[in-house]
Amino acid sequence: MSRIVIEGAHVATLDPARREFVGHVVVEGNRLASVGPGSAPSYDDARVVDGRGCLVTPGFVNTHQHLYQWVTRGLAVDATLFEWLTTLYPVWARITEETVYVAARAALAQLARTGCTTVADHHYVFPRDGGDVLAAEITAAADVGVRFHPARGSMDLGQKDGGLPPDSVVEDRDEILTATEAAIDRWHDAAPDSMLQLVVAPCSPFSVSGELMRESAELARRRGVRLHTHLAETADETDYCREHFGSRPLEYVAGLGWTGPDVWFAHGIHFSDVEITRLGTAGTGVAHCPSSNARLGAGIARVADLRAAGSPVGLGVDGAASNEAGSLVEELRHALLFARGRGGPQALTVRDTLEMATLDGARILGRSDDLGSLESGKLADLAVWNLTTPPHAGIADPVAALVLGTPPPLELLLINGRPVVEHDTVLTVDERALAAETRRVAAHFLS
Ligand code: ZN
Repeated sequence: MSRIVIEGAHVATLDPARREFVGHVVVEGNRLASVGPGSAPSYDDARVVDGRGCLVTPGFVNTHQHLYQWVTRGLAVDATLFEWLTTLYPVWARITEETVYVAARAALAQLARTGCTTVADHHYVFPRDGGDVLAAEITAAADVGVRFHPARGSMDLGQKDGGLPPDSVVEDRDEILTATEAAIDRWHDAAPDSMLQLVVAPCSPFSVSGELMRESAELARRRGVRLHTHLAETADETDYCREHFGSRPLEYVAGLGWTGPDVWFAHGIHFSDVEITRLGTAGTGVAHCPSSNARLGAGIARVADLRAAGSPVGLGVDGAASNEAGSLVEELRHALLFARGRGGPQALTVRDTLEMATLDGARILGRSDDLGSLESGKLADLAVWNLTTPPHAGIADPVAALVLGTPPPLELLLINGRPVVEHDTVLTVDERALAAETRRVAAHFLS
């Protein structure tokens, strides 16, 4: 069994006591064998990493993303959500398994180099002639080496039925449910150290029928997997739901079975006080995507209120078409700044923000027994941030250096005990070749 010892680093454990110390982390195989202050026991056969001047955190959990969008960045850059969607749907209708494979590897490499070890991806565009796009992103995740929660998305409400997407990108409801269950049979692994867990994820109230929402919830519960969708992202969506369903977005989906601790919503910006209480009581989670929300001018989620109500709030980069950076570490800073901009200086602490990126994300995905904190026995998903370079050297509080400073380079990123990033370089892909492939595919989408 391989053994890696990190010595002399500032360790932010996120354990129940939220301990932090200058100490060691010992990794044996894919699990943490020892985490504590001071030096590690000495071993004959260990790889020793000098962590002096570094901060060790749990690996980040990205709770909302659309990997395929990496090759459609920089379009409709000044548009609202509905304008942006109607511009991009025809572009996305041309994706194939080849282009998704390139996009997913590039987006995942960027996530890895920004501290992310677990990725929930919401994929909802399945063109008829596109091949097996879900398999393509699953292969890409295995190639990069991230822990992956692909959410099999869907759209069945095209323009002819009053929905927003063009009819060419929607699927038939029975096909969707059959394909989703087949994906669970083929790929879902419920084991504690699983690298892949499926999620059932119809796209949004304005692109999916009520029948599909209800039957998706039934399928997920029958198979013991989680449920995810976009909800309450914009005021336009609230208006759409009032007009088409006679209710607000949460009331509408709750009536179709969409509340509970096995459900999380992307964005969750436009919730009322009553709705926030309801979500907190149910333990329903929210994927907060501050950069994307600001890029589209959608608003700022009520993160402090949601957390106070008991709703786990994770962070997400969202698709790169509405967040060209695709950087998870930057979402921490934006989450903190926007929360304080909205709610004042007490709205969110530096360490609350780190908790959202790690433990709360793990809770949302049902993985907090094994992920989200650095404790002996948990899985070895961790980031070693190098705080010795000029942008961070001398910042008094290492966690503040990470959250408030510019994104630091990664000395090491371990996923399931395996080094995926070292010395700020992703080991599992050729980043230069991938940049060239990304340029080629992006140019194809513009032609
Ligand atoms: Zn999204």
